[in-house]
Amino acid sequence: MQLYSTNNKALRSDFRTAIFKGLPDDNGLYMPLHIPELPDSFFKNLPDLSFQDIAEQVSLHLLADIIPANELKTLVRNALDFPAPVHQLDEHTGILELFHGPSLAFKDFGARYMAALMSYFNKGESKPLTILVATSGDTGGAVAAGFYKVPGIEVIILYPSEKVSDLQEKQLTTLGHNVSALEIDGSFDDCQAMVKKAFLDTELTQTFRLSSANSINISRLIPQSFYYFEAWKQVMHLNRPVVFSVPSGNFGNLTAGLFAKRMGLPVHHFIAATNSNDVVPAYLASGAYHPQPSVRTLSNAMDVGAPSNFVRMLDLYGSTWNIMKAEISGYAFNDEQTKAAMQDVYRRFEYIIDPHAAVGYLAWKAWQATHQDTNAIGVVLGTAHPAKFLDDVESILERSIEVPERLARLKHENKVSHKMPPSFEALKEWLKNRSV
Ligand SMILES: *Cc1c(COP(=O)(O)O)cnc(C)c1O
Repeated sequence: MQLYSTNNKALRSDFRTAIFKGLPDDNGLYMPLHIPELPDSFFKNLPDLSFQDIAEQVSLHLLADIIPANELKTLVRNALDFPAPVHQLDEHTGILELFHGPSLAFKDFGARYMAALMSYFNKGESKPLTILVATSGDTGGAVAAGFYKVPGIEVIILYPSEKVSDLQEKQLTTLGHNVSALEIDGSFDDCQAMVKKAFLDTELTQTFRLSSANSINISRLIPQSFYYFEAWKQVMHLNRPVVFSVPSGNFGNLTAGLFAKRMGLPVHHFIAATNSNDVVPAYLASGAYHPQPSVRTLSNAMDVGAPSNFVRMLDLYGSTWNIMKAEISGYAFNDEQTKAAMQDVYRRFEYIIDPHAAVGYLAWKAWQATHQDTNAIGVVLGTAHPAKFLDDVESILERSIEVPERLARLKHENKVSHKMPPSFEALKEWLKNRSV
């Protein structure tokens, strides 16, 4: 797989470079030069494939020229060892449960796959690789779990003190081993600025092999395409058009769905579902793109005012609004609507969805209402386990909910973090002192 930069198609990169660098030098985003179609035999055999088989076959299809087949197979199976079941609410709507991984959110698929690939490419290096990542909550948990105990790689996570939930903080600060948490006395933006400065500091980049685990890394998108095939496999016996509704923030998940379609998955339509941070639905409606400062909502992992993967979406459609909007519809909903949808789904189906999935559910219902004639089946991406948003979900549904053992256990574990002022010099000193 060769990649180019969305800013300059002539700027090419190999896969290994792209995943260690994260971003091309011209600050575009890496895109695969070709997204090859899967053979008919793959789709014919799909009903007999497990999720791991699908992940393995699509990986081989994309990366066999880069990583020897046997190693790639082992790597994929170890990274993606949790399922992605579709929970059917009724004959029209299914929820694709993407929250059975270690941090209970879909970001586990990307983080674990990226960690496995980086570890593979890092073999034979004498110096350890140091991953620096700033998080506002969810990404950090997935990255920490994804790289936990990966040999030759250490992870340093910067998070804003008292601005992440207790459970999120525990996900970052209780693992230990190769995962360190720096608790910054500042905002998420401060954390991000500190990480950016570290990458520009010659002394640090000469002492350490630094890399980021940024959400725009191409190795995080690839595995997110796998579960679209997996979902389709689970509903294909119904013989109806399949529509995916994707609760979106940075639009990585939706972009991965577009990759799956390019690989030949016969998706009828995509729905871009957002909370009040609605720049993409607004673009789809008007053709005008206006990034905005983000506003805080109940579905806070989607509070993004300038979605980073939007340039990839534009790139896939040759920046042509008409073509994009023929394949993707956009809908946005506020917190009141989100709460009402969670209550409605619980009352009607005795099934609990989190605020992010609720936005996807609303968008699917809105699309369905105006497209009855298609007789489509909607698959809503359930991006996080409801227990990750325990306080909100319990107060909205007025009941207590079951917390998976993996999360419940964290309550009793001790937090270990290194407190630090929001200063790059402090980060630099800390990094240097621990290298001796
Ligand atoms: C990150 C996240 C999203 C948004 O995904 P994007 O790929 O950034 O669009 C949605 N829901 C949850 C729970 C998330 O953690």
